[in-house]
Amino acid sequence: MTVHFPFQNSYSALPDSFFARVAPTPVAAPRLIKLNRPLAAQLGLDPDLLETPEGAAILAGKTVPEGADPIAMAYAGHQFGHFVPQLGDGRAILLGEVIDRDGIRRDIQLKGSGPTPFSRRGDGRAALGPVLREYIVSEAMYALGIPTTRSLAAVVTGEHVIRESALPGAVLTRVASSHIRVGTFQFFAARRDTEAIRRLADHVIARHYPELREVERPYHALLAGVVARQAELVARWLLVGFIHGVMNTDNSSVSGETIDYGPCAFMDAYNPAQVFSSIDEMGRYAYANQPRIALWNLTRLAECLLPLFGSEQEKAVAEAQDILGAFSEIFSATYQAGLRKKIGLFSVRDGDEALIQDLLDAMAKNQADFTLTFRKLGEAASADATDVRAQFVEPAAFDEWAGRWRARIALEPQSAAERQAAMHAVNPMFIPRNHRVEAVIQAAVNNDDYAPFEELVQVLAKPFEDQPEYTAYADPPLPDQRVLQTFCGT
Ligand code: AMP
Ligand code: MG
Repeated sequence: MTVHFPFQNSYSALPDSFFARVAPTPVAAPRLIKLNRPLAAQLGLDPDLLETPEGAAILAGKTVPEGADPIAMAYAGHQFGHFVPQLGDGRAILLGEVIDRDGIRRDIQLKGSGPTPFSRRGDGRAALGPVLREYIVSEAMYALGIPTTRSLAAVVTGEHVIRESALPGAVLTRVASSHIRVGTFQFFAARRDTEAIRRLADHVIARHYPELREVERPYHALLAGVVARQAELVARWLLVGFIHGVMNTDNSSVSGETIDYGPCAFMDAYNPAQVFSSIDEMGRYAYANQPRIALWNLTRLAECLLPLFGSEQEKAVAEAQDILGAFSEIFSATYQAGLRKKIGLFSVRDGDEALIQDLLDAMAKNQADFTLTFRKLGEAASADATDVRAQFVEPAAFDEWAGRWRARIALEPQSAAERQAAMHAVNPMFIPRNHRVEAVIQAAVNNDDYAPFEELVQVLAKPFEDQPEYTAYADPPLPDQRVLQTFCGT
């Protein structure tokens, strides 16, 4: 039997200027490393058939499945604040779209499947390490309940890619509700192609914001919709300690999903200024800068949409500013509500924000582990505070705060058990810690050993469960295991 992909492609029906038609480049000896079976089923694909050599050949870009309409999407983008009028999919090829079991349209894209007209000087390939990193972290984000692109499969190509050294090549199959970025709008804005901007906006509304089709000012509403989703997304990143690392406008999705996992990382010790990415020398994309950068990116989107706002430019600018003005309110509301839940509050009272800020300040001063502090605080709601105290270099800093926290929660009727359950449902035990991700990659790249990868993926699929047999995965790195920098690896 042949693998059947129930493609229903819409992006490739847009005008030719939106993409380049290009097939993946066949590779030598594809070998499937990982298939995300539940996701395959969700997409209406047969997991057993995808695991056959024929399935692996498709997932490696060696054969193109029936009904695919392979394209590389055109886009532009601000990279670290500098505008590049043409980027595009330089090493990714969109095979097509399917409608999943929930009725949602999903892109199926191969990343690392060979050069495209947008490759510039790149080879169009991906190395195994970054492919595994994206698989692990994107699926961990999904399990944490954060909007994200997903990973359907990873294959090794049987070929080497040349980076600083020769590394095994790999292809990731990425699934997204779309791959349309702020930079996609910028591509057409840079060419002053207002008709294309309108076509793209209409496509995005139909696909991601169908409820806006009938409103009076759909393009204003579209901007407001993207602002809201991005504000919520970044708030949710902060609530789990996630640092994207390359929040360029071409890595910013208009659907509000986390996209383009490069040098991303979760922090261990809480530090608002934390940066891991080796290419982020100025700390532009530091943990606490992410809301500001999201708004900066959205302002670039607003500029692209201005021609659709009407012919009076001053009025259009004022309207756009008004819409962008909602960002900080939506961000703060999501972030503060999330933090309140993290410390186990069921109600809202004056002084809560200050109480939470004081905890964060004490955590920063005491290098407290972000994930474990909140997780163990949940236990302190019903038992003693030994484990949460131990997160602080000077546990007395926690004791002082804990007195105020206990007085605050005593004002609420919920039982200790109820509070702990509510806290455990939002404070994960397991995140993809850098040192674990690195160890998994080393085992795969150096020893062709995928058992550590499998186990890590399995643990991260249930981040809110205690999983006593895997507690070591919750541990922060020892001093000699600490990862100080992460790399794009492109
Ligand atoms: P990124 O930093 O991964 O978001 O990539 C920025 C741009 O560089 C995008 O247009 C990518 O498609 C392109 N790119 C990254 N790596 C490669 C590669 N190995 N070959 C060709 N293009 C690449
Ligand atoms: Mg990118």
